[in-house]
Amino acid sequence: MASVTLKTRDGGPRTISAETITALRGALHGALCLPGEPGYDLARTIWNGMIDRRPAAIVRAAGAADVIRAVNVAREQDLLLAVRGGGHNIAGNAVCEGGLMIDLTPMKSVRVDPSNRTARVEPGVTLGEFDRETQGFGLATPVGINSTTGVAGLTLGAGFGWISRKHGLSIDNLLAADVVLANGELVHASEKQNPDLFWAIRGGGGNFGVVTSFEFRLHPVGPEVLSGLIVHPLSRAAELLDGYRRIAASAPDELACWFVMRKAPPLPFLPPEYHGKEILVFAACYTGDLEKGRKAIAPLQALGKPIADVIAPTPFVAWQTILDPLLTPGARNYWQSHSFTQLSDGAVNILIDSARRLPSPDCELAFAQLGGAINRVPAQATAYPHRDLEFVLNVHTRWSNSAQDQECIAWARELFDRMTPHATGGVYVNFMPEDEAQRVRAGAYGLNYERLAKLKAKYDPDNLFRLNQNIRPAA
Ligand SMILES: Cc1cc2nc3c(=O)[nH]c(=O)nc-3n(C[C@H](O)[C@H](O)[C@H](O)COP(=O)(O)OP(=O)(O)OC[C@H]3O[C@@H](n4cnc5c(N)ncnc54)[C@H](O)[C@@H]3O)c2cc1C
Repeated sequence: MASVTLKTRDGGPRTISAETITALRGALHGALCLPGEPGYDLARTIWNGMIDRRPAAIVRAAGAADVIRAVNVAREQDLLLAVRGGGHNIAGNAVCEGGLMIDLTPMKSVRVDPSNRTARVEPGVTLGEFDRETQGFGLATPVGINSTTGVAGLTLGAGFGWISRKHGLSIDNLLAADVVLANGELVHASEKQNPDLFWAIRGGGGNFGVVTSFEFRLHPVGPEVLSGLIVHPLSRAAELLDGYRRIAASAPDELACWFVMRKAPPLPFLPPEYHGKEILVFAACYTGDLEKGRKAIAPLQALGKPIADVIAPTPFVAWQTILDPLLTPGARNYWQSHSFTQLSDGAVNILIDSARRLPSPDCELAFAQLGGAINRVPAQATAYPHRDLEFVLNVHTRWSNSAQDQECIAWARELFDRMTPHATGGVYVNFMPEDEAQRVRAGAYGLNYERLAKLKAKYDPDNLFRLNQNIRPAA
């Protein structure tokens, strides 16, 4: 075994002796992977195909003790440190170039307590794995819409999905977490223990430590939900979105209706003549009694003359994976995001114009409907502050050929700039690309930033956890 040279936090080289590497390898329950070793490429490959970084060493953690060992080495040796949960973050901060990476994907346990309606989840668990376990007991908690996303990063940024209007954000259902701090101590965070840390990790991302266990509240959901897609040609989008806005404004909490503008994929329920043409898709899910759901979704189904309407009772677990085929890993991705308290006519016109000029067949303009229970939590109750939003836009730019990088990124940025006057200025931290550090203070955290910076100074004064949408420790 030879010595290993890693990058420090300020980018310099740090050579770790062969003895230290051997000692770390021997102490781990999981594995230490160096370049070329089994598991190395698997651990460093993440969802966004734009990110191709090579850490100098990867600790594939099997439990909290491994995380503590890795954090201690990183702190003592002043190493650049990256932390990977599900590896879905668009900015790619889960992987570092030349530093030490902690890969949490081997930590896969989900333990449901059906009588108390709670679940303990380790940080390598994906949304699909979580849903499958909880739905085994007819339970669920709000998470996102793509089953391969990690519970960890999603929750630490806030987390919303189909049942959030009814049951709140993922963080609104977080009861407690175990956190390995920068000093290597494992602490419990809840409303009763370390409540300031518990506040900070509910939206503050990976800034405060490595979460090794999450405890969630669960709710009875399903087993079937009334859900599906209603597809229209984009040419009718202006009138349809006019109706949509009225329906969305009076929708019950049980109903979430998102919409997407994109080119039609060759799905079997779409007539072939529409394949490859621009479409507007309403994606709706009613969480509750199926009959009440039919009444709630009917006005949406009555809008215009759809090309396809595939609303039907669907197992919740299946609905949670319905968009997976459009969100497979490995493609090149660049996202931009805006938040809205209302959707103006001007905004709708810009969206339609941009959707007519999509630079690739996989690009989407995706509008998530928020509101409901999410907005009944005060803005300062958790680090995530955006409790007045009705919609979040994700300009979801996706392509496969690197020769198209400039064209696709330029399209996304142009749309972002044109939408700015119509948006709140806030941004959901989990949808920010790596080049938006200037939006962290005012955009992502706003009125909660000062408190977060003070807590960062308390829990991570040297900014060991800096590969994230970084909150600088207050002076
Ligand atoms: C296809 C797709 C669909 C999505 N849909 C939704 C959606 O419906 N709703 C929604 O809210 N979001 C959604 N997201 C965004 C998602 O919430 C973020 O990408 C999130 O960061 C993913 O978490 P992860 O663990 O998979 O990512 P990772 O890239 O592994 O982690 C992201 C960051 O979180 C931190 N981190 C991760 N794990 C830990 C830990 N255990 N302790 C401390 N810090 C940690 C690290 O800083 C890391 O860089 C989607 C993303 C994708 C790619």
